[in-house]
This record gives sequence, structure tokens and C-alpha cells, in this order.
Amino acid sequence: MTEPKNPPYGAPIDRSIPDALAGLFQEVILDHYRRPRNKGALEDPTHTITMNNPLCGDVIELSLTVRGDVIEKARFQGKGCAISLASVSMMARKLEGTKVADARALSVKFTRLLHGERELQGDKELGDLRSLSGVSKFPVRIKCALLGFNCLEELIGESGSSDDRAGGHEPGGAR
Ligand code: ZN
Repeated sequence: MTEPKNPPYGAPIDRSIPDALAGLFQEVILDHYRRPRNKGALEDPTHTITMNNPLCGDVIELSLTVRGDVIEKARFQGKGCAISLASVSMMARKLEGTKVADARALSVKFTRLLHGERELQGDKELGDLRSLSGVSKFPVRIKCALLGFNCLEELIGESGSSDDRAGGHEPGGAR
């Protein structure tokens, strides 16, 4: 259990804690998993992609409506573990009204958080996504947490990146 005096965010996660996702962090994750934000499909998206994480079985479709340099709408649907779905729920909620460049920056920042950059645990721009910082202790789960962001980068990333990505590609969402 989390000590009551710990703040909900930015609390250091001791590596000795077996379940690094315990306590308040788990509450935030489960809340997004049970009551996902921005779930569904867009009627007329400008961008849609479906990606999967075969290691876990997560499948996520991300749809965006981008006008100019602003993401006006973001919706997702799919199935998967709590971490993948909570992560994409947190991401999609933050994306709406965000400039494309800022969305890219968010993706970079979240990836760094998941690779263990502890100082980012106090970064307000990450919002609820900070609750997933404990995932950095579980390499297999990092692919779950990044699946939604992998979709985002495929849709709006600086093209040309052929990095080895977590998920396989599916044509999906051919609308
Ligand atoms: Zn998963």
C-alpha cells in the first residue's frame, strides 16, 4: 500500500517494491481502464491506423481529425490489457486540442518516462500518463504502454522512421 503522505504523482517508486504499480498509481490506471476516455470511432477522421502488440494480444485503432496543425479530435477502440488501454485512453484525452508538434513532443517524453527517466515523474504535461511510470520496471509491459503512442507516431510522426516498433502492422481501419 502507498503511504498516505505520498503525493499522488511524483512519488519515487522504490525498486524494492514488488508491485511497482500499486497504490495510487494503480487507481489511476484502473480508472482509465474501466471508464476509458475518448473511446469510439470518428465519423470522418483524417487519420486512422490499427496496430497490435503480439506479445500481449493488444489491438488498438487510433483515429484523429487533424485540421491545420491541431488535433481536433482523437478516438480509439480496441482490446487489450489494462496497461495498453489505460495508456491510450490517457493519451487520446490529452491529444484533443493539441498541436501536432506538441503531440510528438508528448510521445517522446512518455517514451523517456517508460525508459526510466525519473525526473519526468513530476512533469505536469504528462498528466495521468505519469501513473504508468512504474511500467519501466517491466520491459514486456513497455510495449503495451507504448502501443497507442506507436499508432500516434505512425499517423503524425516525422515520417521516414523505420525503427523496430513494438507492434506489428495491420492495414486496418481502411476508411
Ligand atoms: Zn498488453
